[in-house]
Amino acid sequence: MSAIKNVWVFSDKQDILAELCAGARQLGEKVTVLLIGNQSAADEAIKAGADHVYLMGELDDSRMVEDFLPTIEKLVAEHNPDLVMFGNTKRGKLMAGKLAAKRGTSVLADVIEFSEDGTCKRRVYGGAAISTIKSNAEVAIATVGGGVFGPQALDESRQGTTENVDFVATESKVKCVERRAKAGATVNLSAAKRVVAVGRGFADKEDLKMAEELAELIGAEIGCTRPLSEGLDWLPREYYIGVSGVMFKPDLYIALGISGQIQHMVGCNQSQTIIAVNKDKAAPIFKQADYGIVGDLYKVLPMLIEKLKSGK
Ligand SMILES: Cc1cc2nc3c(=O)[nH]c(=O)nc-3n(C[C@H](O)[C@H](O)[C@H](O)COP(=O)(O)OP(=O)(O)OC[C@H]3O[C@@H](n4cnc5c(N)ncnc54)[C@H](O)[C@@H]3O)c2cc1C
Repeated sequence: MSAIKNVWVFSDKQDILAELCAGARQLGEKVTVLLIGNQSAADEAIKAGADHVYLMGELDDSRMVEDFLPTIEKLVAEHNPDLVMFGNTKRGKLMAGKLAAKRGTSVLADVIEFSEDGTCKRRVYGGAAISTIKSNAEVAIATVGGGVFGPQALDESRQGTTENVDFVATESKVKCVERRAKAGATVNLSAAKRVVAVGRGFADKEDLKMAEELAELIGAEIGCTRPLSEGLDWLPREYYIGVSGVMFKPDLYIALGISGQIQHMVGCNQSQTIIAVNKDKAAPIFKQADYGIVGDLYKVLPMLIEKLKSGK
């Protein structure tokens, strides 16, 4: 029988929340969601696996996600769940850390596997090793990324309860003064089934159009290695994959001009199928790829695109 009975879940991203609910279902006897949103979001959480939803209120022009922390702290103090899981978004990490500090404990960060006895696994040394850890705190607090539990189908017939709770005002001195829609393309790699990832093998930003064309032909999202986001600034930060970026488990991962350094591979090595194109046959990516093409991407990609277009 599981040592974890009451699992609580919080994420500011709906898709991660759904995945954590489904994962929490496998772990604990009762799943409770701490929700920023309305009744229809609560209904979705129940379909995803929640037994009970605390409706904490909605975001507005002055309330930021992290402003809900005092409400979460109060609920946790009143009910002492065995485990509180936060989605490992920037805000999720921040809130998990603050909650843990408040409770005099620390966070089980970036957990990749939970066991029923309460132990969990996380990657250490940039992904080169796995450490097994267990929290002795009354309430264990963890951050968990997308892809750890995998997407689960919603159960339309699931029943659960919702409860409105009073918003506890924050004493934070940081206030939201303006909210603006993000300019440019956005991506949700955690939920992507197919990804075409680009690396420093591309000589010019313009050339990424080839990868975009391939992605469009196979219904994939674009991802990249860190140097393309941080350094070259060709793609926004949410596009990069790896230990300090997105970690996920897509069905198909096509790596173009990527060497396959461990810090990148820990983000994608759980992919069902990895295809790599690299002109260096000794590139480490080939050790992890299911299919490898040794060749110049500037020759291979146009051929692939041509084949896909002609349907042969
Ligand atoms: C603490 C730390 C954290 C990090 N976190 C991350 C992370 O989260 N994500 C991440 O991605 N990186 C991360 N890195 C960086 C990581 O170590 C690598 O430097 C990075 O992943 C390399 O990116 P790359 O494969 O695009 O470039 P490179 O390593 O330079 O590889 C480029 C590859 O392209 C091939 N190539 C060149 N031209 C062609 C061509 N015409 N056709 C085909 N192939 C070609 C080359 O043979 C080479 O293998 C981190 C590093 C540190 C120290």
